[in-house]
Amino acid sequence: MFKRDNAPLPPGSTIGILGGGQLARMLAQAASRIGLNCHVYAPEADSCAFDVVKRGTVAAYADQEALARFAKDCAVVTYEFENVPAQTASFLSQRVPVLPDPRVLATTQDRLIEKEFIDNLEIATAPYAAVSDAPQLFEAVRKIGLPAILKTRRFGYDGKGQFKIDAGGDPAAAWRAVNGAACILEGFVPFEREVSVVVARGRDGSLQSFEVTENEHRDHILKVSRVPAAVPPAVAAEAVRIAESIATAFDYVGVLAVEMFVLRDGTAQRVLVNEIAPRVHNSGHWTIDGCSVSQFEQHIRAVAGWPLAEPVRLGRVEMINLIGAEAADYGRWLTVPGASLHLYGKGDPVPGRKMGHVTRVQID
Ligand code: AMP
Repeated sequence: MFKRDNAPLPPGSTIGILGGGQLARMLAQAASRIGLNCHVYAPEADSCAFDVVKRGTVAAYADQEALARFAKDCAVVTYEFENVPAQTASFLSQRVPVLPDPRVLATTQDRLIEKEFIDNLEIATAPYAAVSDAPQLFEAVRKIGLPAILKTRRFGYDGKGQFKIDAGGDPAAAWRAVNGAACILEGFVPFEREVSVVVARGRDGSLQSFEVTENEHRDHILKVSRVPAAVPPAVAAEAVRIAESIATAFDYVGVLAVEMFVLRDGTAQRVLVNEIAPRVHNSGHWTIDGCSVSQFEQHIRAVAGWPLAEPVRLGRVEMINLIGAEAADYGRWLTVPGASLHLYGKGDPVPGRKMGHVTRVQID
């Protein structure tokens, strides 16, 4: 294992990125602006990040020869997705620093381990129980009540691997739907709004959070983010405190996002953590056009050992995802005052796929 070296990488250094989607693409674009190069490693030859990087490797995550060559070319390796196979991360970390530390992946790849980790920090989540067979599901339903959501412990995103059980609904049908996968049952949260905090932590342990973002989902996929979020200052401060304490508990280096529910509790409001993403996050895309520094540059700065920037928001910001065929209508955004268009170069639209986004900034 490599000791964490605090010496900043000089401009011209190469940062490796595992994964070649739009997050890697925007990381590479941010790196390039500050004179750092990226080498993207992804199994799919048509990955959209390859269009914007100095070097690319198309190879499987289990291909040790390709991984060894990749490690040799990079001063540090990071990743754009949380399902990096554990063996890939450990193979690389014997050859080159990998940041954030891959130990974080073991926690965030499994909803049960993640929930237990959050519990141990005494941060609130929705009530949950582990479910690995049908009798356990019935027991969990008795304990937590309905409505509830059965979620697979691994490989869930954008609502995939999630099955709601309504009040009076049939838990057995949800159990059949998950096809024997290990799960958690989570109490359904009647939230008032969903928010997230994107926090950066430097190699020296310094923290910089972006302002709390309010998120609106459609069909389980993020549709619109707005900043500032319509929450009182005390709720915003609590959300930031939660995200920063999670980043510190992981001894994290890079950008991390925490998705949260804001719940009304009588006259007060409470914040519950839904999910941790150990990477740059869709709800932080507004920072490219709406802030003095983007989440992508903060991540690159952190893994390169550079000081973090103190983010200054430029106005009221709205980020709208262009999903599937919506991207074909990109032309209408080109003339909207204050709108910035981003297309990810993913080719023909696929339903449900994030193809681009638009940021609208209104100076207050
Ligand atoms: P997740 O994949 O866990 O982030 O869930 C995707 C979306 O499903 C969330 O952003 C919420 O809109 C909704 N959701 C997930 N878990 C719950 C819950 N326990 N209660 C209510 N809504 C939920």
